[in-house]
Amino acid sequence: MADTRIAIIGSGPAGLTAAIYAGRANLKTVLIEGYQPGGQLTITTEVENFPGFDKGIMGPELMDTMRKQALRFGTEIIGGEVAKIDLTSSPKRITLDDGNSFTADAVIIATGATARLLGIPSEKHMMGFGVSACATCDGFFFTDKRIVVIGGGDSAMEEANFLSKFASKVVLIHRRDNFRASKVMIDRAMNNPKISVLWNKTIVEVLGDHKSGVTGLLLEDTQNGERSTHDTDGMFLAIGHTPNTKLFKGQLDTDKSGYLLVTPGTTKTNLPGVFAAGDVFDSHYQQAITAAGSGCMAALDAQHWLETI
Ligand code: NAP
Repeated sequence: MADTRIAIIGSGPAGLTAAIYAGRANLKTVLIEGYQPGGQLTITTEVENFPGFDKGIMGPELMDTMRKQALRFGTEIIGGEVAKIDLTSSPKRITLDDGNSFTADAVIIATGATARLLGIPSEKHMMGFGVSACATCDGFFFTDKRIVVIGGGDSAMEEANFLSKFASKVVLIHRRDNFRASKVMIDRAMNNPKISVLWNKTIVEVLGDHKSGVTGLLLEDTQNGERSTHDTDGMFLAIGHTPNTKLFKGQLDTDKSGYLLVTPGTTKTNLPGVFAAGDVFDSHYQQAITAAGSGCMAALDAQHWLETI
């Protein structure tokens, strides 16, 4: 890892695209892939909207192909996570969770975002016993069972459709009376005979125990405050994501939700030689293709910056 020019943290489409571009520019590049190599696309099924795959491609296969492409151009990929990072020093010092450390002239942060939870105690207690934040991982366990999906965005629509392949019935529960998801995703869900909607409801408590699993939900109506129970065998959360920026707290500027801030039109953070790519700074688009695009931008920005030092 000596003489590393660019260190990339994260191995989703943003990190791997940055690695491909940095490698092709002949810059010694090290990528730290984290404990979910390939990122969120490795826990998804078919990706239908990544250009170049007219019949779609499975998420894990897409990521595996990107990884091989990054390796082909000389990226050194290392496992584990970053435990500590000093982005203000020159070069920047990166300490891994196995205690090893190395320096790099520039850093590209592509650490992505993690699925958000409701934050109620019963949700935590029943996680893995009928509560899940990953439809692709756990859908199969709900064959012929009743499922609830929480959320009103594209993820909720996508997960409801996916889960309808297993479940006897899927109920979307949303806290408002209209969805923020795109029309095509809403139409697909609403045209699915297995999917119905409960509007204006929040989850007060997940009912059940570790022996029986989830048996129902205690709901509250956001319009009149009335409480009711809804019988179900499982609850899937699709309520958005939290950016993985804890590691950089106090060094990099973020917005109030924790997303990294960059100079508009670039991937430059507030610190020289530190760049952001993908969902870690993009709370709006959050697409594999936009993440890949910003990974390319970050590598080019880093390359230009390295020419100035
Ligand atoms: P999102 O668009 O932020 O939607 C989150 C949903 O969860 C919203 O409906 C929100 O309600 C609800 N929510 C948030 N916190 C909640 C809470 N504490 N309790 C109850 N409900 C809560 O997130 P997303 O659906 O994950 O999508 C993120 C981005 O990825 C979007 O840009 C989306 O287009 C994209 N995406 C695209 C695809 C695709 O094109 N195939 C698939 C998945 C995601 P409110 O509406 O009331 O705020």
